[in-house]
Amino acid sequence: MDNCLFCRIARGEIPSAKVYEDDEILAFKDIQPQRPVHVLVIPKRHITSLAHVAATDVPLLGRMLAVAKQIADDQGSPEGFRVIINTGRIGGQEVEHLHAHIVGGLEPVGPMLKRI
Ligand code: AMP
Ligand code: ZN
Repeated sequence: MDNCLFCRIARGEIPSAKVYEDDEILAFKDIQPQRPVHVLVIPKRHITSLAHVAATDVPLLGRMLAVAKQIADDQGSPEGFRVIINTGRIGGQEVEHLHAHIVGGLEPVGPMLKRI
């Protein structure tokens, strides 16, 4: 995925404020943070969205969630956090490379969804 924004970040072609990295996963600060702590966790390998995962991706997905607590603690959200994975048009996904938002801080994040 030559032109995918998050693939390019994973390859180091576009700079990011990295907060966690291992063989398969990268986490970096969101460029437009919506809470004091706002980090994106991505697989380094391109997966378009949560609607595009294969059975073989299950361990990777589990690990993406399992790193959230350590990232939240390290970034200043020790008493909890929220994980959001926007998926597809209905889910409001803007970047078509799977990513989990970790949002938090020292104050509650707020209601889960704005009422419509
Ligand atoms: P989503 O709407 O779930 O697809 O979220 C995409 C997120 O990517 C948004 O919160 C953007 O602020 C964030 N974003 C876009 N470009 C960058 C970038 N270059 N570095 C970090 N975060 C970015
Ligand atoms: Zn990608």
